[in-house]
Formats: sequence, structure tokens, C-alpha cells
Amino acid sequence: MAQIVIKNLRKEFGAFTAVQSSSFTIEDGEFFMLLGPSGCGKTTTLRMIAGLELPTAGEIYIDGAEVSQKPASQRDIAFVFQMFALYPHMNVRKNISYPLVSQGMKRDQVRAKVNEVAEILGITSILEKPVGGLSGGDRQRVALGRAIVRDPACFLMDEPLGALDAEFREHMALELRALHDRMRATTVYVTHDQLEAMQMGDKIVVMNHGVVEQFGRPQEIYDWPATTFVARFIGSPAMNLLNFDGMVGNGSAEVTLSDAPIKIPPMISGASGPLTLGVRPEHIRLDDSAPLKARIKAAEYLGTTQIITLDTPHGPVKARIASDQPATIGDTTGLAFDARSITLFDSTGHALISEANQKVLSHG
Ligand code: ATP
Repeated sequence: MAQIVIKNLRKEFGAFTAVQSSSFTIEDGEFFMLLGPSGCGKTTTLRMIAGLELPTAGEIYIDGAEVSQKPASQRDIAFVFQMFALYPHMNVRKNISYPLVSQGMKRDQVRAKVNEVAEILGITSILEKPVGGLSGGDRQRVALGRAIVRDPACFLMDEPLGALDAEFREHMALELRALHDRMRATTVYVTHDQLEAMQMGDKIVVMNHGVVEQFGRPQEIYDWPATTFVARFIGSPAMNLLNFDGMVGNGSAEVTLSDAPIKIPPMISGASGPLTLGVRPEHIRLDDSAPLKARIKAAEYLGTTQIITLDTPHGPVKARIASDQPATIGDTTGLAFDARSITLFDSTGHALISEANQKVLSHG
């Protein structure tokens, strides 16, 4: 078990800065996701936590002790690489035993420990089998077993399910999460897949170009993105971002887009000039009487819901509505928003603070 505190962590490779002044805390027992697009610095951050890469600046604390400049061997951490990396000439038991045997543990203790781990993973019946003939799922379980058997304070996983096809990936994601719920060992998990992060994580750090854009629970990040980058990256379809010129003051509860008044959550910070209104597709209704007009461009049927794409003077919009609600391509309709779910962003792409998002944005 371990709490990991990251303070102003920075990594430069020559003139290139891969991670810029990151700060966040991973609480004991959390399943913690490092999420972002390719090249944003997730793996570099994970490797610094592991001690495989030393930071250029900043600090890492594991359970209160500073480990920033300590090598991997002095940190009580198990790094789960691509899970297929098993020793092909050894059977399942020997693969799982390996870390304990190399630590010099006694044979009967190793045997008992491996039996216990196999029980947790549901692979007792294949313990004496060669790894060569195993299914993909069993190979993943054996690789996990090899990491778990050491009882490390923390697991680090870098896109462990990356090589799997979609269906199997989803199955293993659920299994990993269930295993975590049984063991409650702190886990730090790198992924570029926002759905995987939302599905599995207790908390998520969203990174972009080496910068932490937001840090919080999946629902907080989904409901109240701190930046337009997060708004676009999380959610499928992404949050709608409508650009407009306007002024929002402390206490404002309305903005105007194309002369149409739109209710917003009461604000406690303000801005003027180019602004962006963010609203999720499921918080938009098509209502002919709503003053902001839009033209229906496309409809995508998804079973119980449909995604309607509309053109507005402020950019394209996607609305998720019931599939039995009529929507004719080419028609003009009005857009009504759920006022409580609107986020406003300033010209730098940062969310303005409203009464509704205050807690999330100020405690992030
Ligand atoms: P991916 O999912 O593609 O691995 P990532 O978010 O994990 O992306 P990192 O692997 O952390 O990204 O890399 C961040 C940036 O740092 C990239 O531009 C990468 O090219 C660069 N980088 C990483 N390691 C090194 C290194 N040893 N030397 C120079 N540049 C590096």
C-alpha cells in the first residue's frame, strides 16, 4: 500500500521538455490513470515514478519518503510491462515464482505464495502448464501473477491492454479492475484511451504536451472540464464548444449568442472578449421555440439515442436525443441547453469558475 505525491515534477531531454511542472497526489489504494494523447509525457511520468528515469526537477514521495533520485531497485514498486512478456521456456508456476526465487525466498514459501496468487487470479488449474499453449487471457493473468506475487506497495502499468482486440480488451479491463478491488494496491496506469480511463480509474490526470490539464474523479472531469483540451478529449461525442464574443461578470447568469439569451450557472469569475460555451451533447434539446437557431445537418442512429449534427453561427454542434424524436435533415430548429451543465471558457481555453463547478476547479 502506498500514497504517491508528485510535486512540480519536470523532465527535460536535451532542449525538449517532456514533462513540465506536474503536481498531483495518488492516494493509497487508488486506481489512478495517466491519460493523454501520444507524446504528452505519460510514460515519462510513469518511468520517473518507477525510478527508471530521474527527474530534471521536482520531487516524488512514496509514503512520505522522498525517492526522487533513488533508483528503481530502492522503490517498492512492480512495473507491469506489456503483459505478454513471459519467460517462454518456463511453465506458469516457474514464471510466477521467478521474482521470489530471485529474491532468495525458501522453496515451500514460494510454493505457498504462488498457490495463493493463482487462486486470486483463477489460474490454479494451469499452474503446471507451459506458457506456450496458453490463451491470450491466461497469458495476461500469468504476467499479472508475476507482478502481484512480490506484494509490492504499488503497481505501475503502461498501456497493458494496448495490444488486445477491442472485445478482449474490455474483458481484461473489467478483470483488472475487479482484481484491484480485491487487493486495493495503489495502481498507476497509463492509457491514451479516454473510455478505458473513465471505465477503470478512481482518479484521472489528463496530460497534454507535458502539462497536467486536469486531475480529478472521472465524473468531475467529464462534468466540469478545466480546459477546452479536456472538454474535447473526454466524451464521445466530445463536449460541444461554441465560440462567441461577450462579457461575463461576477454574478452573471446569462450570456448572449446571436442575440439569443442563454442561461448559465451563476458565475463567480468573469471575462470578456472571445469566449467559449461548452455543453455536452446529452444536455441539448431540439426545441423549435428556443431562440438560438441551428440547421440539422446529419443524424446518426445509435439504438436508444441518436446523435444529431447541427450547424450554428458559433460552430457545429452535436446533440444526443431520443431515437424516436423526429429530426429532418435540412430543417431549422432551436437549441435549448440545460443551464446547470454549461461550462464557459476564457480566450486561453481555461474554464471560468461558476457556482456549479467551483468545488471541482478550485480543488482539482
Ligand atoms: P506514447 O503513448 O506515444 O508513448 P507518452 O504520452 O507516453 O506517449 P512519452 O513517451 O512520455 O509520451 O514521451 C513524451 C515526449 O518525450 C515524446 O515527444 C518523446 O519523443 C520524448 N521522449 C521520451 N523519451 C525520450 C528520450 N529518452 N529522449 C528524448 N526524447 C524522449
